Amino acid sequence: MNSEDRRAELAARLAKVRTRIATACEDSGRDRREITLVAVTKTFPASDVIALVGLGVRDIGENRDHEAAPKSAEVAAAELDTDVRWHFVGQLQSNKCRSVVRYADLVHSVDRPSIVDALARASEKHRDQPLDVLIQVSLDKDPERGGVTAAELSDLAAMVTEREALRLRGLMAVPPLKADPESEYPRLAGIAADLRSAFPAATVLSAGMSGDLEVAVRHGATHLRIGSALLGGRPLLG
Ligand SMILES: *Cc1c(COP(=O)(O)O)cnc(C)c1O
Repeated sequence: MNSEDRRAELAARLAKVRTRIATACEDSGRDRREITLVAVTKTFPASDVIALVGLGVRDIGENRDHEAAPKSAEVAAAELDTDVRWHFVGQLQSNKCRSVVRYADLVHSVDRPSIVDALARASEKHRDQPLDVLIQVSLDKDPERGGVTAAELSDLAAMVTEREALRLRGLMAVPPLKADPESEYPRLAGIAADLRSAFPAATVLSAGMSGDLEVAVRHGATHLRIGSALLGGRPLLG
C-alpha cells in the first residue's frame, strides 16, 4: 500500500474510533476532554506514527523497548511540529528501564518492586523531570499478563511515592481474557477510587482497548489504549 492510501486508511479508522469515544462519553455523561486516546503502534512502522500525529493523535503506545527505542528516535528525527507523548504499555524488565526512561513520558506497567527501583534509578540518571508512572493491576491474577493484586497495590504505590524521580499518576489494567468486562470493570473502578483517596494525584485510569473501550469509558477510564481498531490487524509475532 502506498503512503497516501495508508494515510487515508488511518484517517478513516481514526474517525471511527473518535466517533466511538464520543458516543461512549455521551452515553455515560462523561466529558470527552477527560479521555486520552493512546494509539498502540506496536509492530507498525514509524511512518504510521508520523501519519497519526499528522491526523491529530498526540499519544503513542508501545510494548517492547527494542521496537520502541528506534521507532521513537525515528519519529524524533522527523522533527514534527507537535510533540509526541510516548507511553510504554508492555511488561518491563529491569535491564530495559535505562532505555525506556529516555523516551517514555508515561510508563503504564509498573508491577513489582524491582521495576520501581530500576525505573527510579534510571530516571534519576537520565531525566531532568520525574517520570510519570502507573501501577498495573491484575484483575484475574494471570501471571502471564502481569500486574499486582488489589491487596499488593498500596505497598507498591507507597514505594513509588518514596522515589523523587517517579510520580505516581494512577493505574493501568489489561482486561481479563476470560472474564466478562461488565463484571470486572466496576471492580477496577473501585480499586482506582481507593488509590485516589490515598494518593490524590493518581487520577489516571488506563483501561480499555479496541474491543471494550465503551465499557471502559463507562467505568471511568481516562486513557484508552487502542491498537487494532486504529492500525488494523497485527501480524502474528513469531
Ligand atoms: C497491544 C496492546 C493494546 C492494544 O490492543 P488492541 O486490542 O489491538 O486495541 C493495549 N494494551 C496493551 C498493553 C497492549 O499490549
